[in-house]
Order: sequence, then C-alpha cells, then structure tokens
Amino acid sequence: QTILSPWARNISPSPTLAVDAKAKALKAEGKDVCGFGAGEPDFDTPEFIKEACHEALRRGETKYAPAAGIPKLRSALAEKYVRDNGIAGVTAEQVVVSPGGKFSCYLAILAVCGPGDEVIIPAPYWVSYPEMVKLAGATPKFIFAGDDQGFKITPEQLKKAITSKTRLVVLNSPSNPTGAVYTKAEIEAIMAVAVEADIYVMSDEIYEHLLYDGVEFVSPASLSAEAAAITITVAGFSKTFSMTGWRLGTLMAPKPIAKAVADLQSQTSSNATTFAQWGALAAMEKPDEAKRAVAAMLEVFDRRRLKLLDGLNAIEGIQCDRAQGAFYLFPNISSFGQNSTDFSSKLLEDELVAVVPGVAFGADDYVRLSYATSDTIIEKGLERLTRFCRAL
Ligand code: PLP
Repeated sequence: QTILSPWARNISPSPTLAVDAKAKALKAEGKDVCGFGAGEPDFDTPEFIKEACHEALRRGETKYAPAAGIPKLRSALAEKYVRDNGIAGVTAEQVVVSPGGKFSCYLAILAVCGPGDEVIIPAPYWVSYPEMVKLAGATPKFIFAGDDQGFKITPEQLKKAITSKTRLVVLNSPSNPTGAVYTKAEIEAIMAVAVEADIYVMSDEIYEHLLYDGVEFVSPASLSAEAAAITITVAGFSKTFSMTGWRLGTLMAPKPIAKAVADLQSQTSSNATTFAQWGALAAMEKPDEAKRAVAAMLEVFDRRRLKLLDGLNAIEGIQCDRAQGAFYLFPNISSFGQNSTDFSSKLLEDELVAVVPGVAFGADDYVRLSYATSDTIIEKGLERLTRFCRAL
C-alpha cells in the first residue's frame, strides 16, 4: 500500500525550477555555468516599491489582511483593468490578490473545474497548467501549435477540440515558453468560438507588459460583455516589476467566480502577505515611476532578445521564431535527431549551458532559453552552443 494520495502520486515536480536548481548547484560547486533556465527577471525590484513595503512594515502592517486582498490594492487593480486593459465596469469585488500568479491560476481552475470536466490547453504550454487541472480532478486536453503556425492555435483547432465535457480553455499571451503574442484579430476569433460554445477562458496575462516590436496587448475580457462574462483574467507582479520572491498574483473574474476564488483562498492560504501588498500598491499608485521602471527593463530585454535570436539563427540546424513577448526564445532543435531531454542534458554536461527541454512544455522538438540573464552569459552561452551543435 502506498503512503501517498493519488494527487501526490500523480504530480510531477516543476521541471523549470529543477533545471534552475541544477544550474545553481553546479555554480555553487564553482562551475562556470551559463544559465538560460530561469523564468525570472534578473533585475532588483524597483526601489520605490521596496520603500513602500519597508514603510508598511514600519507602520505595523504585519497582521492578516482580508482574504481577497487589501481593499486599496483591489480597487487600484480594478481601475487599472478599466483604464489600461479597456475592460468595462470592473469593480474591486471582481479582483482577488493571491500569493503568486501560480496560485491565482490554480484557484481559477479549482473554482470552475471538477471531476469529469475537460480543460483545453494549447501546447507548448506553461508547465503548471496540466498539473493544476489534474489536481482539480479534471482532465487536460491538448491542442498543438508548432512554429509552423507561430505557436498559436487557430479557432478551427479550438472548435474541433471542444466536446460536451469541455469546461475551460487556457490562453497565455505573451506565452511562456514560446514568447508568442496573439493579435487582436486572433483573440477575437478564438473568443468567438469560446462564447459560442459557452466555455470559460482563463487568460494568463502575467507577461502583459513584456512586449517588443511595437505589438499591441489585448485582454480577451476587453472584447465584449459576452467575452468578459466567460473570462477569468490572471496576472501578477512577478514578471513586470521583478517581484518573483514577493509572491503576489492577481485574478479578475465575474463576481460569483471571484467570490468563490476568495473563499477557496480563505480556507487554503488566507491572504497574500500583507506588507507585500502595500509594496505592490505603490506600483499602482505611482504609474509614472512604474512605467519608467518597466521601460528601462524592456529596453535591456529587447537588446538581449535580438542578440540571442540572431545568435541562435546563425547556428546551423537551429531555427528560432522572432518571439515578440515575455523573455523566452523557443528554438527548434529537431534537425539534430535528438529529443529535447537528451539535447539539454548533453549540453549541460559538455558545455555547462542550462536550457529547459521542450518536452516539459509538451513540445519535444524545442528547447527554451530565457534571456532574463546578462549579455555576457548570452554571448558566452552562444559560443558554447555553437560549438556543441557543430559537434553533434
Ligand atoms: N503564468 C505563467 C505563464 C508563468 O510563466 C508564471 C511564472 O513563471 C506564472 C504564471 C506565475 O508567476 P508567479 O507565481 O511568480 O506570479
């Protein structure tokens, strides 16, 4: 007899965190590792946000907060959704602040999915979606969109995948791991299918501010009242403001769903860390400073993106799409005749370059590289990768 529950037996540990941990362990042994595994900005949190958190601590904001978040932050987020995302009539009651965007996603799925339900997940997908769906007792169903279609699913693919059991479809634009960004027309076409089929949409907008080449960001919930009625929007502070360690995620949904999410949270984590929420509030209340901080980070990311993209495409056998969002590139390595796990393991062993195998994201022909790392590492890593591929 096993000592563990079916949930614990079926869960796979996060492969992206595992790659990062392995690269850090090798580094701690004194090895000169070029790490492209990390899913976090390499910048510090902007000073004005940290200062607001310090001030909250000094003021004694060290107690429980309401489960759904401090009222000021919920209101500021509601206003942001109306002003910046163009979603009509959002109120604070529709907003829930959680300990991390990851937990916001999990609660969104738990709030609307259960045993017998199917959840459609476009692949390549963020590693945690299928596991969260399984933890809710539901079944993940995948639709594949490779580089031949810009890593974006078509409305026809979605329509075909919908069954009478479909409850939810996950959208993630800009995407982790591909960096792909859906256009407004593409989102409109997909939302039309979801509205018609009356299924929920979880729109993971954690990378909403990390955009390049002048592309536009579109929230599915902004398209129409019908679209807003079926959409749960999740996001957070980790990627936009280099706040991964603060653990602050956000969710915005129709009121009954937001209330259910707050209730689920009240029985699981209680609330997101109180003084961290006061820090995040500064990011909302000082939009000019926030914009400056994000713009400075974006400029650096964009330069690194182009450097890594050019470097990868210069390697014979590698083909990489020009991703326009997030901080990832997802090159195709299938011409080397190795699966992504073998390719990545050998690359780490032979050349001390850490990348995440695409199989973790449901796409074994690819590997993921994060350019949230220094220019020096990018240059050195590209030299090593070039030598490695030449030898294969
Ligand atoms: N969604 C996507 C697509 C992500 O890549 C991540 C982080 O890697 C998250 C959500 C959650 O981020 P956090 O829990 O740090 O807010």
